[in-house]
Amino acid sequence: MKLPSLNTQIFAGVVLGIAIGAGFAALGKTSPLTQNGLYAAGLVGTLFVDLLKMVLIPLVFTSIAVGVASLRAHRQMHRVWVATLGFFVLSMAIAIVLGLSASNLFEPGKGMQLSMFADATAAFQAKQLSMSQFFAQFLHAIFVNPVSALAQGNVLAVVVFALILGIALVIGGERYKNLLALLQELLEISLMIVGWIMRLAPLGIMALLINLAATQDMALIKTLGYFVLVVIGTTLVHGVIALPLILYLVTGVTPLQFWRGAREALITAFATSSSSATLPVTLRCVEQHLHVKRDIAGFVVPLGATVNMDGTALYEAVAALFVANLAGIDLSFGQQLVVFFTAMLGAIGAPGIPSAGMVTMIVVLQSVGLPVEAIAILLPIDRLLDTVRTAVNVEDDMIASMVVQKLTRES
Ligand code: ASP
Repeated sequence: MKLPSLNTQIFAGVVLGIAIGAGFAALGKTSPLTQNGLYAAGLVGTLFVDLLKMVLIPLVFTSIAVGVASLRAHRQMHRVWVATLGFFVLSMAIAIVLGLSASNLFEPGKGMQLSMFADATAAFQAKQLSMSQFFAQFLHAIFVNPVSALAQGNVLAVVVFALILGIALVIGGERYKNLLALLQELLEISLMIVGWIMRLAPLGIMALLINLAATQDMALIKTLGYFVLVVIGTTLVHGVIALPLILYLVTGVTPLQFWRGAREALITAFATSSSSATLPVTLRCVEQHLHVKRDIAGFVVPLGATVNMDGTALYEAVAALFVANLAGIDLSFGQQLVVFFTAMLGAIGAPGIPSAGMVTMIVVLQSVGLPVEAIAILLPIDRLLDTVRTAVNVEDDMIASMVVQKLTRES
């Protein structure tokens, strides 16, 4: 019997996962069926994410080093850098402006009593991190002994070292062609392994969604419903309207064409809530389905997965204004401008792992003197909100690579 296509299987996984998860939630936590089911789903989901993480580091390392080294052949190397960084900053700026506008318009949290969350906030110990400490810490995390960065799976440091190695390979030229060939082969073989792991994707995604759907605290989501709605709605406006529009205007690729090529990565991001874990799938999608050349994709996508996070930037801006409303504080235009910059910094600084945005959120709150303890209110619903914002983070990396390819095409 011929199995349906991988995409169809993944879709079936999504639908089944949510349905089974909701079923478990209805049965209740104490039912043995729920307990065993969630245990099995936990095993399979973790296995899938672990497999992706297993190839992540060799893949990031080789794809950036090879990407940068092969940009050498690209006469527009300088333009690739400028276009990439320019696009990252611009798309995050649009996301934050959208977030701030929606918050000012819909005012989530206005009139809600902060005291009703007193228990949650009292139990929360915030790790205080001022803006200057955050910056120092960020800078300190960039340059790390590559062996320890590779061993610890420190994606940011691996990206930075691979960039430097790539530049050295460009400058060294012919002399290091063997090393480059070796890295190229490692990259190809990593991508082959990703192909194998993807066969498990339908099951892995189903398992992750079973857990997600079964463990949501519905009462809390209802209380914070309006905020959840504003965050998800605005993130979708950015992901479904703004970004595809930019893509269409620059490259002529229609949203439907994009969706067809990108869905594996978008769904994996939604289910894993991690841009890093999704990265192997993202690379596969842009190279194999969306026809981005390896030199551009290998450079833009892994870099984007760690620094370019539109969904996170947007979320941090909306959440900051939400907390201000809860605390009964009106943020002035100047203060919102500070939120704008810190939300961007927070998104750049957040690693691509689940709920990373929550940690850098503290910096945004502190920058305008908001109570950091409010994180305790946001944390319990974060797993839910992280799904959509991670999908948009990954979408933006894919669109960035397509836009950069178009803007720097050699004619
Ligand atoms: N989970 C997000 C990501 O991996 C980061 C965040 O928490 O916003 O892209």
